[in-house]
Amino acid sequence: MLAYSQGPLQHILRDESYPKLILLREDLNHPYVSGNKWWKLKYNLQEAVDQGHHTLLTFGGAYSNHLYATAAAARELGLNAIGIIRGEEVLPLNPTLAFAQANGMKLHFISRARYRDNAEDEFIRELHDLFGDFYLIPEGGTNALAIKGVREWAHQIKNEVEFDYLCLPVGTGGTLAGLIAGLDGAGEVVGYSVLKNGGFLRATVQEMLNEVPQPFRNWRIETSYDHGGYAKTTPALHTFIRRMKDEFALPLDAVYTGKMMFGILDMLKAGKFKPGSTVLALHTGGLQGNYPNKSSKTSFSFPNPFT
Ligand SMILES: *Cc1c(COP(=O)(O)O)cnc(C)c1O
Repeated sequence: MLAYSQGPLQHILRDESYPKLILLREDLNHPYVSGNKWWKLKYNLQEAVDQGHHTLLTFGGAYSNHLYATAAAARELGLNAIGIIRGEEVLPLNPTLAFAQANGMKLHFISRARYRDNAEDEFIRELHDLFGDFYLIPEGGTNALAIKGVREWAHQIKNEVEFDYLCLPVGTGGTLAGLIAGLDGAGEVVGYSVLKNGGFLRATVQEMLNEVPQPFRNWRIETSYDHGGYAKTTPALHTFIRRMKDEFALPLDAVYTGKMMFGILDMLKAGKFKPGSTVLALHTGGLQGNYPNKSSKTSFSFPNPFT
């Protein structure tokens, strides 16, 4: 089993005129396998070990939090790891890939065109020809066992924190689906799409929920805070992230948690959360992607959400 320590709660807004805003700092649950990735990997790792595999194989882009987490988890459990990376190798390796490699992950670069087949049986067979036996974790780590882990996380949250809204950033939608299922109708779950035109995610998440008998309706996906799409940013987002760090000592990343918090504060300001309610935001991790040279120097000013 991976080491785990429960993330602490951080209160952000104590202004009586706003709903209460609390962050669950799940980014602090493990030094390297952090946030939602810990929960998504939990049962996949157990399954790999139970089935007697010695190697994990997974897919990701060059900045993938999932690859980073998988490399660290494999190392901690004494498993080998292979990362199939989208795109050509660029040297020197960026900090994400350098970390993965330093933790023993074997990096295998493939073209973007080839990478698109990553879920195809034939492609997986070719990978078996190349690498022999492995336990496969799909791109982004989303599968039924990932959702099982996130459901368990939802039970833990429900038992320990009172909230009316539970907010989180959405990539593949696996984490959102697991939380909806695990909360069993409690609260209102608000996902913030980090993908451009993220409306399609509603059907994706609905499909993942088809395995769950109850038709839960207590969730939605906000699609206007993607800041241009996956891994795209705006000066306003960078300024916002810097301010959250300065004013609340809250570190956020620009791919996931920054966009979620930007959306939450915008919606708080617009009165979209019921007065007197409690908004619980999940810090899903991703801080490994905050490289020092990526910060923006622009001075665009975000409208102060607190005035
Ligand atoms: C991977 C990731 C997500 C997205 O999780 P999905 O299950 O793919 O929706 C959200 N936040 C962070 C920090 C992540 O690394």
